Parts: sequence; C-alpha cells; structure tokens
Amino acid sequence: MVTIDQANQDFAQKVQSKEGGETLMLCFQCGTCTASCPSGRMTAYKTRKLIRRAQLGMEEEVLNSPDLWMCTTCYSCMERCPRGVEIVDLITLLRNLAVEKGVMSEPHKKVGTMLVKYGGTVPLTEEYENQREALGLDRKPVSTLGNEKALADLKKILKATGFDELVGGN
Ligand code: SF4
Ligand code: SF4
Repeated sequence: MVTIDQANQDFAQKVQSKEGGETLMLCFQCGTCTASCPSGRMTAYKTRKLIRRAQLGMEEEVLNSPDLWMCTTCYSCMERCPRGVEIVDLITLLRNLAVEKGVMSEPHKKVGTMLVKYGGTVPLTEEYENQREALGLDRKPVSTLGNEKALADLKKILKATGFDELVGGN
C-alpha cells in the first residue's frame, strides 16, 4: 500500500519532463507489458508495477529496486502497449536517474568494468581477430576495441564522468 507521505509528485513530474519519460502518465495499468515480459516470467519483476510506482512518485522504491535492472530491453512490451507508453525509454531514463544517485546492479557493474578495461563489453580475442581476418577485414576494428588512442580517450571520459569509479574502477 502507498501512503500519501511516500508519494513524491515532484519525482513523477521530473520523469515526465525528461526525454524518454514523457509517456509515463499514459499508462492505465492494463498489465499487457507484464504479460509480455520474458524477464518477468523468470523473476519477480513486474513492468506494470514499476511504472505504477513511478507514476505515484515512489522515487526511493523505484530507483533502489533490483527490478529496475531486470529488463533486457527486448521491446516486447512496448510493441504491445495499447497506450503507446515508451516503456523501454522510461526504464532507461529511470536507470540513468538511479546511476546519478550511485545505484547500479552488480551484474551491470561487471559489464561496465569490461567497457572500462577493453573499450567494449565483449573483449577482442585472438579468435575474433582470426574470424575478422578470414572475412577479409582488418584484424582489429577501428572502434575503441582495436584503437589504443580511442580507448585512451574513452577511459578519460569514463573517469571524468565518474563511471569507472561507479563500476569499481579498472
Ligand atoms: S501495457 Fe502499457 S498501459 Fe498497459 S500496464 Fe503496461 S505500460 Fe501500462
Ligand atoms: S523490454 Fe524489458 S520490460 Fe519490456 S518485455 Fe522486454 S524485458 Fe520486459
């Protein structure tokens, strides 16, 4: 049950005012998103419930909830929502707000450490390089995975923004 002192309409308004949050109040709680969610079938995560809590301004519950990190961004819910709620954009925005408060799930942090270390969430291995060569590509991509200068620049950005510290450094 939500009591009036838990509701923080400033939070709901803040979400709506940001890119990705504009459709928050369109949700009329039909539950189609929850019924469509493959992640919800395996966990206690309920998309509809997360959105309702955001509508009610339950900032702490939403931003500290492990549920926030259960979405795999498969878009099944968003394709079916009868109200056109941009659910994945909302979840992304809520995650960004959580990160601003220094909150991130441990599995996401682990993925983040890969980015800090290698410049990509999947490191470049000799096997991948061999596959690239077999396809007639340069062994190393031009991205941060294969370009030392680009990787060094990315590391500077991740440090300046505090991302490396958030995910546990190098
Ligand atoms: S499908 Fe859309 S309208 Fe229905 S509960 Fe989910 S977000 Fe709300
Ligand atoms: S996008 Fe996220 S919330 Fe929507 S169905 Fe997929 S996993 Fe569930």
